[in-house]
Amino acid sequence: MSKIINIESLIKSYNDIEAVRNISLSIDQGEMFGIVGPDGAGKTTTIRILCGLLEFDAGTVKIFGKDIKLEKNQIQKEIGYLSQKFSLYRDLSVDENIEFFAQIHNVYDYKKRRNELLEFTRLTEFRNRLAENLSGGMKQKLALACSLIHKPKILFLDEPTTGVDPVSRRDFWKILSSLRNEGITIFMSTPYLDEAERCTRVAMMDKGKIIALDEPKKIKASIKKEVLEIVCSPIKKAYDVIKEKTEYDVQMFGDRLNIVLDDYGIEKEAILKTLNKYSVNIVSTRNIAPSLENVFIYKIREAS
Ligand code: ADP
Repeated sequence: MSKIINIESLIKSYNDIEAVRNISLSIDQGEMFGIVGPDGAGKTTTIRILCGLLEFDAGTVKIFGKDIKLEKNQIQKEIGYLSQKFSLYRDLSVDENIEFFAQIHNVYDYKKRRNELLEFTRLTEFRNRLAENLSGGMKQKLALACSLIHKPKILFLDEPTTGVDPVSRRDFWKILSSLRNEGITIFMSTPYLDEAERCTRVAMMDKGKIIALDEPKKIKASIKKEVLEIVCSPIKKAYDVIKEKTEYDVQMFGDRLNIVLDDYGIEKEAILKTLNKYSVNIVSTRNIAPSLENVFIYKIREAS
């Protein structure tokens, strides 16, 4: 399979902030690639560099085998970009917004494509509605339609579902899957680990560095740890006890704690004993496989 994106030793700073610290990545055609990481990890900076929207300090970026510094305009004709702060024209209708983006991309014969995109995103019945009167999820789908009007070969999406309700998020993902079935390569960033699970490969990014890069299931297998899940109360007290009185890596998810262990059998007993000593009420315990979230938090701590 040919590499559609090639990044080598990419470095980008904003004055003294090192936003991207020497990352190398290559993406195959047809992948649904995800960069996942917390705020400030460097996701937006990376995506904007790949789209030719931001200069960088060192390294090389090639898209379709072309150097972004030398052939930016050629590359930009064949990529789509849905930015985090994508702005639609509020006082234009759905149809008019798509028409506007067609003109920007010099797509003159856009009407058939527009109809296809409206069908695809299930916006046909709203085509005359002003963008400002659409729901959040519909706005996002319209933004997606606009970014696809020129039939890009790669679609870059920067946190496309942040702030979108769960139902619309599911809908949006169905659309992304269909796009992929049509052969479009997708490169997206997300703060959501459950979304990262759906990608063919994931780069976990933190403080400008890639701390893991692989298929989600391989990343999960990579830490060779087991996770003790404890449902208990009061949960905050239990969390503090583990954090302050033991050496274990503990994470709190709602009413449960996840503790990453090397030797489940031995360590579980010691942890339960400690919690009992501090009068924590244990409701249940389970041995669970590490989730991407467990691994990510573990790796971030390991790296720092
Ligand atoms: P993410 O998308 O993962 O939240 P960003 O790429 O937006 O991360 O930011 C990476 C780092 O670079 C952060 O520390 C952020 O504050 C900084 N940064 C981003 N854009 C600018 C800018 N225009 N000027 C100065 N610092 C910036």
